[in-house]
Amino acid sequence: SKAKLFDEKTDVKTSFKDVAGLEGAKEEVQEIVDFLKNPEKYTNLGGKIPKGALLVGPPGTGKTLLAKAVAGEAKVPFFSLSGSDFVEMFVGVGASRVRDLFKQAKEKSPAIIFIDEIDAIGRARGKANFSGSNDERENTLNQLLTEMDGFGTNTNVIVLAATNRADVLDTALMRAGRFDRQIYVDLPDVRERREIFEVHLRPLKKVADELDTEFMAKQTPGFSGADIANVCNEAALIAARQGKSAVGRQDFLDAVDRIVGGLEKKNKIIT
Ligand code: ATP
Repeated sequence: SKAKLFDEKTDVKTSFKDVAGLEGAKEEVQEIVDFLKNPEKYTNLGGKIPKGALLVGPPGTGKTLLAKAVAGEAKVPFFSLSGSDFVEMFVGVGASRVRDLFKQAKEKSPAIIFIDEIDAIGRARGKANFSGSNDERENTLNQLLTEMDGFGTNTNVIVLAATNRADVLDTALMRAGRFDRQIYVDLPDVRERREIFEVHLRPLKKVADELDTEFMAKQTPGFSGADIANVCNEAALIAARQGKSAVGRQDFLDAVDRIVGGLEKKNKIIT
């Protein structure tokens, strides 16, 4: 069977309500939602709709979530692929796969294409990396550039790409008419962590009344949205394991300890 090149989701349910904090980033992508919904409003005045935007920020901060929310809010299909899978799985055929992806997205336009870990494809040309052949990656990157240049401003396909290493990207990607907008998606501050806790408490069935999200936000400096989602889920599992009927404050604190332990271990492996 053929390995899956990309994922295509129609009827995306994710909305801006699911994305906590990130007010600045949400404001910027709101404009993209508006382009997708009312392209004529912009093109009638001679404006060119952007073709791409780069979401830049540390892991787990909600870049994928935000991209999906753009598709959900605009009610357009969401085509997604991971740069690293792409480079590993499609040796020799990367460029033709990129062509297929854009062809399909154009047929279903308006649409969003989301490329996670674009640095795996979009590293500066001519610089060696550790995975796979460079020529192959460069062909894939060149095809991506060609596709972005090739589709007209009225195609209504907008490409969002995520990276935590904007510094290693080939500058050709950032040229006008390509990913000429950069949107920063940073780690949450204490107020944003509180909002993220509130989003991820929603699916928990029984949370003890004593749980104070402001307190939890203060206990979790440096945590990403993904870490907080993890804490909430882990707290529910810890409470259930002990046969409790509701998830309480101590379960959340134990979950934080467990996640901090995990993060420390991860850092130890890296250093
Ligand atoms: P990576 O760079 O590792 O791919 P990412 O920035 O794309 O990470 P996501 O995959 O969007 O991060 O986040 C993972 C999960 O963490 C989300 O599905 C969501 O559950 C939670 N999350 C992250 N950020 C937020 C946020 N701002 N609001 C609510 N949930 C969040």
